[in-house]
Amino acid sequence: MNGFYGRYLKIDLTDETFDLLPLNDKILLTYLGGKGLASHLLYSINPPGVDPMSPGNCLIFATGPITNSRIWGSSRYGVYTKSPQTGLYSESYAGGKVPEAIDSSGFDAIVVTGKSKRPSVLLVHPDGAEFFDASDIWGLDTYETEDTVNRKYGHVDFGPEKSGAVVIGPAGENRVRFSVIENDYWRSAGRTGVGAVMGSKHLKAIVFKGDKRRSLFDAKGVKRFSNKIAVESKNNPVVKAYKAMGTPVMVEKINQAKAFPTKYWSEGFFDQWEKLSAEALHRQCRVQPRACAKCFIACGRLTTVLNGRHAGLMIEGPEYETIFAFGGLCMIDSLEEIVYLNDICDRLGMDTISAGNLCGLTIEAVRKNKIDVHIDYGDVDAIAGLLKKIAARQGIGDILARGIKYAAKIWNMEDMAVHVKGLEPPGYDPRVLKGSGLAFAVSDRGACHLRATFHNPELKGISDPEITKGKAELLIDFEDRLILMDAFILCRFFRDIYPWDHLSRIIEMTTGLKADKAALQKIAFEISTLTRCFNIREGLKPEDDHLPKRFYKEMLNTGHIIKETDLTAMLKEYYCLRGWNENGVPK
Ligand code: SF4
Repeated sequence: MNGFYGRYLKIDLTDETFDLLPLNDKILLTYLGGKGLASHLLYSINPPGVDPMSPGNCLIFATGPITNSRIWGSSRYGVYTKSPQTGLYSESYAGGKVPEAIDSSGFDAIVVTGKSKRPSVLLVHPDGAEFFDASDIWGLDTYETEDTVNRKYGHVDFGPEKSGAVVIGPAGENRVRFSVIENDYWRSAGRTGVGAVMGSKHLKAIVFKGDKRRSLFDAKGVKRFSNKIAVESKNNPVVKAYKAMGTPVMVEKINQAKAFPTKYWSEGFFDQWEKLSAEALHRQCRVQPRACAKCFIACGRLTTVLNGRHAGLMIEGPEYETIFAFGGLCMIDSLEEIVYLNDICDRLGMDTISAGNLCGLTIEAVRKNKIDVHIDYGDVDAIAGLLKKIAARQGIGDILARGIKYAAKIWNMEDMAVHVKGLEPPGYDPRVLKGSGLAFAVSDRGACHLRATFHNPELKGISDPEITKGKAELLIDFEDRLILMDAFILCRFFRDIYPWDHLSRIIEMTTGLKADKAALQKIAFEISTLTRCFNIREGLKPEDDHLPKRFYKEMLNTGHIIKETDLTAMLKEYYCLRGWNENGVPK
């Protein structure tokens, strides 16, 4: 079938063996690639009830039928596993240039199982895999690791052959439950602790190499379509905004909506937000737009700090979510200091959203006399010290490294801790954006803004954020389209560029599959049912589809609150429309 390699690679780290296995057309037509195929493999191969940190838990890398093609937004890969943060379904995506190297190795998916006896590096290429000792690089930060493994095992920069690496830092090695997998220095598969699973396997890095390309059903059509999209998108206001200012543009919008989580979720507005805005970033630092391969939006910011104690420090970022997590939740009113904390997280390999949330929880624990530690809102150095302790699992850091559910229990702060299913939310307060509250509650991977990006229609006024009745129907439309984008795999920021009919054209031009909106929705339905069944098999309970109690009880000073009865009513509608019973179980 066009658009697919029709095979996947299964690697066993325990005995250092691999198998090249076929994928039949029926599976590919039912689930496509990316999230669809990987969810099918995860459900089929993972032993039910497996400990996420045990050798039996699979770590799956996947690209999709459009990867390495001329389709804009297509340089992206996904990682899928059982999450050590939630104990449930885990997916995380990253862009950059490395996704095209992963795809060039010539597999629809790479499944890694087992546990290496020694720290190791994997080399994946079209003929299979090779295993190398990584004892000499165990302990290096993510940037050093990427440089070293690319130098040792990569070295391709010309012709049809591509190469690139995904790596973990010390946090992943130490199985910090919210550690990330990184590539291209600053691009992270950031959420749900995929780096911890890689670390539990003693796997420091995977280098991908190859010259394979997917055969396209209509390559000329893809070229024409992509040229047309580039011309049409030139004056798109969303594209222009992200290109000019990157995701920090959201700081102003979310503060204006009074939905900017501040002081560990106790306020929805940060009175110092202007110091954290996109304008401040571009005024105070040297900032260059930076793009993944096959992208004209270039939402990335290559930022160099110009003044102060961090002058000369350069990162790609900070993204809106990092600004909210350290700026809002921990009340740090300096972008240069947020760049500094961002750099620490990137080097150590930790998710900034979870890290900021956990630092905020720790500050509240101190203020409520639950623990005796010197840290407070705005105290950058204490927060930096805490991040390092988490990565090294030292003292209080060891408690936080085990995730928010564990820390909240130990500190008797379960009513205060903000998470859904064990994953801390991103920067959109669901007391203001109520449909986003439903999206957080039902997302497979815990509190997540990316499964539906429902803050987008609520902020734009397409869906009134205060109205809860009828919300589920629109949410499902968003979710289903984005499930498809994750099966293709496409970058989220192209959601406004590719409506349903464009997705139909893309899948036909790449694979030959004729699928109108209804047919694509059927594929999304199969995938969402599968991931829901995975979660139920792994112990998901109806009460897990809820928001933290604080959101039902604590009103923001703007008067915003979300009633538990409203969330329950939205859930009921959602289950019904998904074809699930009253407990959220697919019929
Ligand atoms: S919009 Fe941003 S994340 Fe998406 S492909 Fe472009 S640069 Fe990468």
